[in-house]
Amino acid sequence: MHFHIISLFPELCQTYLETGVLGRAQKTDKGKGAKVRGKKISASYYNPREFSTDKHRKVDERPYGGGPGMVMLVEPVVRAWEKAVGRKTKSLKEGKVKTLIMSPRGTVFTQTLAKEYADKYEHLVLISGRYEGIDDRVRQILGAEEVSVGDYVLTGGELPALTIIDATARQIPGVLGTLESLEDKRPTNGEVYTRPEVYEYKKKKYVVPKVLIEGDHKKIDAYRAKEK
Ligand code: SAH
Repeated sequence: MHFHIISLFPELCQTYLETGVLGRAQKTDKGKGAKVRGKKISASYYNPREFSTDKHRKVDERPYGGGPGMVMLVEPVVRAWEKAVGRKTKSLKEGKVKTLIMSPRGTVFTQTLAKEYADKYEHLVLISGRYEGIDDRVRQILGAEEVSVGDYVLTGGELPALTIIDATARQIPGVLGTLESLEDKRPTNGEVYTRPEVYEYKKKKYVVPKVLIEGDHKKIDAYRAKEK
């Protein structure tokens, strides 16, 4: 899966995506034990400012109809999109390119959507807004879908884009190694413990549930499957 990030602050996203599990998944994995070889994911960054044709590299303007703040211009964003996937004609024709616009008014992102993106698409383009959002014609031209990460308003679409990439990437075979796992594949009530067995804090003892220490795997599974 190729993630294309269109953002006025791409470096915010880059640091996150190059760290940990997602960073590793962008490197070529030739290891013998690797279930899926090669790069599992890749990420590219496009700053609309670099695609502005204005001599001052302008990327925003005041909204028609009045109102507070500024709105991101159509052209730099559409040109950035063109650069990202405009020439991926085969993928575009086969419906393997999905374009998402981060918006607090969009469809709320869920685990189900993460799985769907991972299964269906080769290229995921994520457009992050700033200011008061993006001229709606970007959505119309690109046939993009608006996606929200929840019922609150952030200052930019970078955190939502990272949230979507993170959740989607870990559904791709080989992205999670043997040290991590898709938690939905084994029964769990979400509670996990590690050493020590007893931890004392301000004179109170906090203990690991006995069943987890005793080693009876049937009992452990039953315990973990229990609803909280
Ligand atoms: N007044 C604007 C707020 C824009 S917030 C409005 O009502 O739409 C600035 C940018 O942050 C948005 O363009 C969007 O890309 C991003 N953003 C803010 N909250 C978000 C959320 N909950 N989900 C996804 N993107 C969000």
